[in-house]
Amino acid sequence: MDMVINAAEVENILANARGKSDSELDGILDRAEALKGLSPEDVAALLMMESPRHIERMFKVAGKIKEEIYGVRVVMFAPLYVSDYCVNKCHYCGYSCDNKFVRRRLTMDEIRAEAEILERMGHKRLALEAGEDSVNCPIDYILDAIKTIYAMKAGSGEIRRVNVNIAATTPENYKKLHDVGIGTYILFQETYHEPAYARLHERGPKKDFSYHLTAFDRAMRSGIDDVGGGVLFGLYDWRFEVLGLMLHNRHLDETYGAGFHTISMPRLCPAEGMDMSAYEVLSDSDFKRVVATIRIAVPYTGMIISTRESPEMRKELIKLGISQISGGSSVEVGGYSIRESGGEQFVLADSRPAIDVLRWLMDEQFVPSFCTACYRKGRTGDRFMSLAKSGNIKNVCLPNALMTLCEYMMDYGDESFKVQADELIDKNIPKIANTKMRDLTKDNIGRIKNGERDLFV
Ligand code: SF4
Ligand code: SF4
Repeated sequence: MDMVINAAEVENILANARGKSDSELDGILDRAEALKGLSPEDVAALLMMESPRHIERMFKVAGKIKEEIYGVRVVMFAPLYVSDYCVNKCHYCGYSCDNKFVRRRLTMDEIRAEAEILERMGHKRLALEAGEDSVNCPIDYILDAIKTIYAMKAGSGEIRRVNVNIAATTPENYKKLHDVGIGTYILFQETYHEPAYARLHERGPKKDFSYHLTAFDRAMRSGIDDVGGGVLFGLYDWRFEVLGLMLHNRHLDETYGAGFHTISMPRLCPAEGMDMSAYEVLSDSDFKRVVATIRIAVPYTGMIISTRESPEMRKELIKLGISQISGGSSVEVGGYSIRESGGEQFVLADSRPAIDVLRWLMDEQFVPSFCTACYRKGRTGDRFMSLAKSGNIKNVCLPNALMTLCEYMMDYGDESFKVQADELIDKNIPKIANTKMRDLTKDNIGRIKNGERDLFV
């Protein structure tokens, strides 16, 4: 059965979750702490609670879960915008079809050049992004772009995982994306509230709420194992959106054996032609609540934030549950090449070069990771989820993080970076609990320092 979301039902769950007693809230947080998973009603209670003591406790529980499951690694990725042609009119987006600017789509040579620049920044994992336009940006173009990126080799590195964020499409097209070897198929629902969705999506195929909402059903039935959801926080009430995400996740889990592989957490920011006063921009403290609630509710789902957030906010959110961030990003078509030639108008809150983001993560004692191991080991979909739920995923995450950091340090780090990364690696190797894995990691670190590449477990 395809996903259906009923706004009245969600409102009803939220309304019934008001006014829980202290002991009821403590009971929910106890269950969360024991990694028992939460029902939509439990999640609604956490979203509706007002008691500062429980909100504080929730932050602590989220931080503890984050540490237990993900440890200190933070996975890095970069977006790659290939086309800004779009036939949709979405009120909150600068690519909206009513906005007049010269649109472009990259040629395969330009895509190769962008991927090379990203590789030279040390990236191994990309999110390919494009607007929706079946004439100017058909599926065959996207497929060629993915093949071009995978075929690119620059220096001693290559892009090892291409996640794809393109418009909802047909089962045939999802099958093609699967066959070309995409990582996660990412699609933001934007908002789960159907009337708000109708208001914000004025024209174009995306206007069809139900077609958009059932995209992951078509994708998973067509063989795509890993799907990544998300909403644009600020379009509608955040409590409603979090519950929408949870119901969607439950539907995928029950129907296909794996819920969201990742959830992206964009917060609305100003775009060309947009009247910000028409939106409810989420405060920092509410946004922290959102991140903590989702971390608690779906402990095994990766959570992603982009460079839309400031470094200070990113630091707090990583502690509360974020497991993946972008670094050194450009959100312009051809932006990496433009930046190299000094022409980019950079407006992101975190506009630091990738290497500075890594230094900052290491200063905070996080281990930046360029790992793509699960996808390449066939640990996807339900296979990934069962490993994650058994608590064994961290036994491979930290070793892979240390090995890919070592690779980065050897290939892209300057002297001071090498000193800092080496210290961090030495400090974290003893934290690998499994003796065999610890020895293997030590061995592999030595091999990487001697010139071998792409070792993973
Ligand atoms: Fe922007 Fe995507 Fe909407 Fe196009 S479909 S206007 S790219 S949000
Ligand atoms: Fe992600 Fe798997 Fe690598 Fe862990 S081992 S960082 S879950 S790809």
